[in-house]
Amino acid sequence: MPNATAHIKRIRLHQGDLPADLSLNGSIAVDTEATGLEILTRDRLCLVQLCERADEQGSECHLVQIAPEQNEAPRLKKLLEDKNRVKIFHYARFDLAILKKALDIQTAPVYCTKIASKIARSYSSAHGLKDLCKEFIGIDMSKKQQCSDWGREKLSEAQKQYAALDVVYLHEIKEQLDAMLMREERTELADECFLALLTRVRLDLEGWREQDIFSH
Ligand code: MN
Repeated sequence: MPNATAHIKRIRLHQGDLPADLSLNGSIAVDTEATGLEILTRDRLCLVQLCERADEQGSECHLVQIAPEQNEAPRLKKLLEDKNRVKIFHYARFDLAILKKALDIQTAPVYCTKIASKIARSYSSAHGLKDLCKEFIGIDMSKKQQCSDWGREKLSEAQKQYAALDVVYLHEIKEQLDAMLMREERTELADECFLALLTRVRLDLEGWREQDIFSH
């Protein structure tokens, strides 16, 4: 097993925004849950999960529940827009779009473990979070709760655990992917893709979601 495997130290549930007295250090792993995938029309943001890099005891995970009519979360916005902090996602394209649509948050700078994996792990075609957890952390991650009702007022313990698991390994996965990118001299290419992702998300939100504007 590679170095200290990150695990969940504690899960804290917050309503509507992060608490005022909370200060998080360094880069932040982020994920979101919604009522479905049609975020431009039908579906809404339900939950934003965050965690900082783990210490020896693991990491504390913060789950911010978003109410149905809610359209802002000032402290969350400040954190996610902080230029001095990298936000680590897996498949950031979805999360960035829904955070902008629902809470007008322009998340940056961004690191996406799915994009990093596609560029670093060109030997593989499996780039799901489950695949990366298996290869880098050595754990089998259940995706059972992925399709659960995230809109419910009171989340189940299983849902909270699942939601926290989606962010808790991202720092460690990033570190391993960064080492591979460096080894293969693909770091700069990955960095350019993370920047381009912001444009890709803007295209998604402004009407070019189905198109690859680079194709003929
Ligand atoms: Mn998730």
